[in-house]
Amino acid sequence: MRIVLLGAPGSGKGTQAKKLMADKNIPQISTGDMLREAVATGTRFGQKAKTIMDAGDLVSDDIMLGIISERLSQSDAADGFILDGFPRTKTQALDLEELLDQLGTPLDAAVLMDVDFDVLMKRLTGRRTCSLTGKLLNVYSSSQEELDECTNAGGELIQREDDNEETIANRLDVYRAQTEPLVDFYRKRGGLRTVDADGAIDEVYARLLEAIT
Ligand code: AMP
Repeated sequence: MRIVLLGAPGSGKGTQAKKLMADKNIPQISTGDMLREAVATGTRFGQKAKTIMDAGDLVSDDIMLGIISERLSQSDAADGFILDGFPRTKTQALDLEELLDQLGTPLDAAVLMDVDFDVLMKRLTGRRTCSLTGKLLNVYSSSQEELDECTNAGGELIQREDDNEETIANRLDVYRAQTEPLVDFYRKRGGLRTVDADGAIDEVYARLLEAIT
């Protein structure tokens, strides 16, 4: 199964992609995670990427194409993948189409994780990662037990640097201007499915499974 998860920042792409990865045994390919890893290595490219990401802007299409073509050529992607955060521009969508055509492995579906903008803001400002387990939590919607489980074990609830209000506002603007047009792009290609992404994680996951089967 080869799918693209489309959706605004905070629509739950990463959370749902991780569940799907565990269930279907295909990799979640998150360009955001890959870029954050590059930032953590502290290379010159990582430093440049950090400046762009901290502002909530997009890394250039050329660089992203290089990153994604290399990743898709790895053996674990041969039997399928879930793209999370790529493509984000029309150019990236066309590049991806060309790349997959060359590989003879077209997409099966593009799934839009659909959620109202006011819900997104709460999800993004409340989002935290447990420093011990990497588990994604939310100070507004996770239970107190889940939050305590992390901190009682000595973990910290870490907020992503780009999850502050100013950067979030720009990320949502960038999404509207550059990425939202891809909904029509995939609709015209005939492979678009839409999932109501508002609700509990397991409810949304059930809808996602239904949409891709
Ligand atoms: P994400 O974790 O998907 O929200 O991505 C975090 C940040 O990484 C974005 O705000 C962008 O700065 C950058 N990024 C991730 N994926 C892409 C992409 N496909 N194209 C350009 N920039 C990206």
